[in-house]
Formats: sequence, C-alpha cells, structure tokens
Amino acid sequence: MNSESAMSSHYWSDVVGKLTPYVPGEQPKLANIVKLNTNENPYGPSPRAIEAIRGEVGEDLRLYPDPEAELLKQAVAKAHGLDVRQVFVGNGSDEVLAHAFLALLKHPRPILFPDITYSFYPVYCGLYGVDYRTVPLSETFEIRIDDYRQANGGIIFPNPNAPTGCLLGLADIERLLAANSQSVVVVDEAYIAFGGASAIPLIARHPNLLVVQTLSKSHSLAGLRVGFALGHASLIEALERVKNSFNSYPLDRLAIAGASAAIADTAHFEQTRKAVIASRERLTRQLAQLGFEVLPSQANFIFIHHPLHDAAELAQALRERSIVVRHFRQPRIDRFLRVTVGTDEQCATLVGALREILK
Ligand code: PMP
Repeated sequence: MNSESAMSSHYWSDVVGKLTPYVPGEQPKLANIVKLNTNENPYGPSPRAIEAIRGEVGEDLRLYPDPEAELLKQAVAKAHGLDVRQVFVGNGSDEVLAHAFLALLKHPRPILFPDITYSFYPVYCGLYGVDYRTVPLSETFEIRIDDYRQANGGIIFPNPNAPTGCLLGLADIERLLAANSQSVVVVDEAYIAFGGASAIPLIARHPNLLVVQTLSKSHSLAGLRVGFALGHASLIEALERVKNSFNSYPLDRLAIAGASAAIADTAHFEQTRKAVIASRERLTRQLAQLGFEVLPSQANFIFIHHPLHDAAELAQALRERSIVVRHFRQPRIDRFLRVTVGTDEQCATLVGALREILK
C-alpha cells in the first residue's frame, strides 16, 4: 500500500476495510474481440424492447419513475401466472440477491451454499455479516441434496449452477424444500431459460421458496439491469422493506419500459434461447472431438477442461487470438475454462483457434 492510499483508508469505516469485493468478468475495451467471458446473450434484445426504451426518452425523464415499477411487476406476474404481490423487481438480479441476503438469509445460524458457485454469495455475506458454510459439490460437480440436511439459516444456489452449468432436477429441489421448511431456500435461476425446468411452479406449495431470475441473459438485456424475485407474498414484503430502506427507485423509466416489452415478446425469447441451446450442443460436440471434457450444461455457457493442457495457458493463447474466455484461479476448478456460448460464427472461430493451439 502506498502512503497516499494508507492516508485515504484512514477515513474508512471498519466495515469497508474488511470487505472482499466481487470482481466481475472483464469488459474489454478492444474492438473486434470474440467475447465469451461474461455469459451475455450473443443476440440483440427484442426490437419491441428497444422501441419501448426509445419511447421513454424525452421530457418525462425529468420525473422520477414509478417506485413500485407496477407495469413491470404486472408483466412478470402475468408471464408466470402469479399475483403482483408475489413479484419483487430490482436493478439486476445481483441487487435482488443482495436484498435477499439481508432480508431473508441473515440469521444466527450459518447459511449453506455449494463450495463451487456464484462467487458473489460470499461477498454479500461479508457485506451484511451473514455467517455461511460451504457444502462441497460431488466429484462430478453435482449438488447433493442430502448434504444440505443440516441446521441452517437458509440455503442458496444457482440452478443451473455457475460456473459448472450443471442442473438440479425439480424433484430434488422439492425434496430440499420439504426437508428444510424452517428456513428460506433461494434458487438463483439466472440461466434457467437455456434448458432447465424452473422451480416457479413449486412456489404455490412452498412458502419458503424464493426464485430469482434476470433478464440479463435470457432476454439479452444485461445492459439494462433488470432482475426479479418470485415467492410467497410475505417473502416479497421482506424484500420490499429492505428496498424501501435503501433506494426508492432502483429501476429507471427506460428499464421499466424496456423490460416490460421484452417479457411480452415471447416469440423473440423463444427464438434466441433455442438458437443458443442449439449452438451449445454443437459446440459441446466439437470440443469433445478436440479432446475436451465438457460438463453437461443447461446454461448459456460450458465448463471445459483438456487433460493435456493448462487452462490458464489456453486462455492466454486464445486471448492472443482476440478470444476472451473466463478462467477461475480457484481450488478444484483451476483446470477448467468457462466459455459463453456465442453465435455459431463465434463458436466456429473459437473451435478453429483451439484446433490450432492444440496442434
Ligand atoms: N446469478 C448468477 C448465478 C450469475 O452468474 C449472475 C451474473 N453474473 C447473476 C446472478 C447476476 O446477474 P444480473 O445482475 O445481471 O441480473
């Protein structure tokens, strides 16, 4: 630490000095790169969403947006057959998750999540002082429900899991909910649009289930920052209490209009998600032919490793060819690369580059 930063940290609170902030995947400034590192959707958003956003650009921007984002809540509720009181919306699902940690997961007992999972979870625990215990995935990187049969203050995991892409079936989730009725189970469905079955139908039977989704990947709107949570009205009320103690207007006018229109455009959603799924299956076959082990993915990314090549070196060699993928320097998974499924053209560029590198 240089003397200048030592001086400025003098003014920090105790809390901020102890934080370990999340580091998002790089958003490179370079032109013409094949960007397969942060799981964005390679296709553009619904033209109807773009039109709705354009329609909001004008004089009315001087006015605050609807603090309740009623239009968007209604669109989400209608799409999933729920009551608006069962819908919470936020500035990206990261914000929704953050509020869930404070509103529903902060209890005397530690919460549980997998040892290999979305790395923002321990960061929120640090921010809000939530005690946690990690539960190891199996040797084949699966969540084993029986390992979660222990006293806890709550449970959270992504489904499909990140960065593995592995999906947990609804029967397992329902068993977990039934065995764990004393605390909240948060299912983070950031990637559920790409093949998995959502736990939303289980909400009717399980008041302890909170399902969190995002428009970032499923609706190609990572840049708009819109996420939501669905659950029993009392869970939603807890989230609203935190939100209204934090920021009255987390969703701006453009986000409310664009997200509502995107959700209504089910044809665009179906078309793009099917294209991503088809590309994932093709890419998986091609990488297997090159000798990669590819974990079975139901997400818009794949988790791959090559028995003969170091993952960090492969990532570097790809980068030199203007292809960016994600490598995590973390125990158990440092031999893997996480590769976002791009367009067929981007996938072909990746496969061509790997073929050359492995030669
Ligand atoms: N959950 C998981 C598992 C993720 O990978 C991400 C994306 N980094 C998010 C939530 C957050 O997505 P967003 O804030 O864009 O909605």
